[in-house]
Amino acid sequence: MGRRKIAAGNWKMHLSLEQARRLASTVAMADRPKGVDVFLGIPSVFLHPVSTDLQNSPGMYTGAQNCHQAEAGAYTGEVSASMVSSAGGKFVILGHSERRELFGETDQIIEQKIRRALSEGLEVVFCCGEPLEQRESGQHKQWVERQMRHALFSLSPLQMQHLIIAYEPIWAIGTGKTASPEQAGEMHQFIRKEIRQAFGDEIADGIPILYGGSVKPQNAHELFSQEDVDGGLVGGASLEADGFLQIVHALSK
Ligand code: PEP
Repeated sequence: MGRRKIAAGNWKMHLSLEQARRLASTVAMADRPKGVDVFLGIPSVFLHPVSTDLQNSPGMYTGAQNCHQAEAGAYTGEVSASMVSSAGGKFVILGHSERRELFGETDQIIEQKIRRALSEGLEVVFCCGEPLEQRESGQHKQWVERQMRHALFSLSPLQMQHLIIAYEPIWAIGTGKTASPEQAGEMHQFIRKEIRQAFGDEIADGIPILYGGSVKPQNAHELFSQEDVDGGLVGGASLEADGFLQIVHALSK
């Protein structure tokens, strides 16, 4: 059996509750290819109603875009992993570059969040990726290797079975600038090689590695045709059902 294929949307801080419910239900009711899992990373306040709406939609998973590393406590405004889970979330996106850059999340904090999320039974979509400066100076592989080493390499193989990696070059996020299929393919191959060295063949061959960074209906098929690209993490283009569904279908071709 091949690796799991995943089309994941990251809605960020967009939509009203009504719009969120409509978008999720439109995607859930549409004709979707078998064998492609659809993840929706939705604002936490909408997690419970949207998860309830999608309860009987096989192949669709709702999740959060962040959670706190502590189990519970006096952290005003924060959301814990167990809250995500009890609201119906099945996964959480962690390590997104916007969280790292705008909210000061370090490799160490991300590692703590991953452990907390896994201990609550959530799957983790772990994001990594280099800034433009590192790409231009040829340091992109070292950069991503460091992010993975700090956040992932002390996990157990059992824990790694609940991980999904999203390679998201920062210079391609929300910029309209996509990595070329060759650039994406090369980095995904590199990431899988690093996972192989750290965890062995079974984990490396099974772990889904998604590409993120201005994925659109027009470029999805070419990106997904790369050997080690198992799907996409999609921001802007996941906010509109038709376009997102085209991306979902591009994974089955
Ligand atoms: C993202 O937020 O993870 C992302 C890839 O955004 P966009 O598709 O808009 O570049």
